[in-house]
Amino acid sequence: MIDGNIYEMKGGLSLYVIDNGGERMLIDTSTEDQAGYIVNKMKEFGIFPVQKILLTHSHWDHMQGVEELVKLMGGIEVEVLASEKAIDNLKDPRYMNDPFDVPAKPVEDVTPLTEGDLIDLNGLTLRVINLFGHTMDSIAVLDEKNKNLFVGDAIKRKDFNTFSPLFMPPDFNELALLNTFQKLRDIGNDINSLSLSHYGIWTDEDCQNLLNEMESLHHKTKESIIAWYNENPKIEYLATKYVETFIPNSSKTVEEMQNSMAWLIKGLKMSGFIK
Ligand SMILES: [Zn+2]
Repeated sequence: MIDGNIYEMKGGLSLYVIDNGGERMLIDTSTEDQAGYIVNKMKEFGIFPVQKILLTHSHWDHMQGVEELVKLMGGIEVEVLASEKAIDNLKDPRYMNDPFDVPAKPVEDVTPLTEGDLIDLNGLTLRVINLFGHTMDSIAVLDEKNKNLFVGDAIKRKDFNTFSPLFMPPDFNELALLNTFQKLRDIGNDINSLSLSHYGIWTDEDCQNLLNEMESLHHKTKESIIAWYNENPKIEYLATKYVETFIPNSSKTVEEMQNSMAWLIKGLKMSGFIK
């Protein structure tokens, strides 16, 4: 795991490098400005270069660094892989990323992945699983040998004090997300660990607790935010209520929560839950 160092902050975004005898795949990229930092970390950990980069979905914090990272791989050919549903979003990243007011450069030449596809990493098999809902181009990869699922943003939790809702713009889809939660519970017996983008690796009991809790946390946070929004739609008010109610012991401050809250409100508006 490499900390994506997003906004120069630790603990916000996890990237993963799977290494099998020198053949390596990076999962997600962080932002463009962190590419040099990430490459230095890879060199420090002896996992440089990577021959493949897999994007779990086309939100900017997962894909913005692709071009710069590929440039820094020392001239080797790097294959970029993503869901077949992500191909258009990556070619023109504005649809996915304008709601965040974050620019991202187009990513061309992406290998499209379909549910059930197997990625071969020097003999290690990684299975592609669609986990739509957070976005409609989200995928996970399952390392069946090590029983670890790289889950992208289908589950988010920084620590047991911090839960971050999943309803981000532009294409949060609740029905799809509920299907994803069920799908994750169904494969729960086949996995020992979850590698989250936000944030870190959760094993054994923690892993099963996450799988069991996320649906009710989703409903609780969504319903609360909608109710507070109807009382007072000011972002500062909503962020204060959220921190007080759901993450009182978190290191995340109201100020830090405001950006995310503005995005969550956009997510609820674009999916029709608030007007
Ligand atoms: Zn995302």
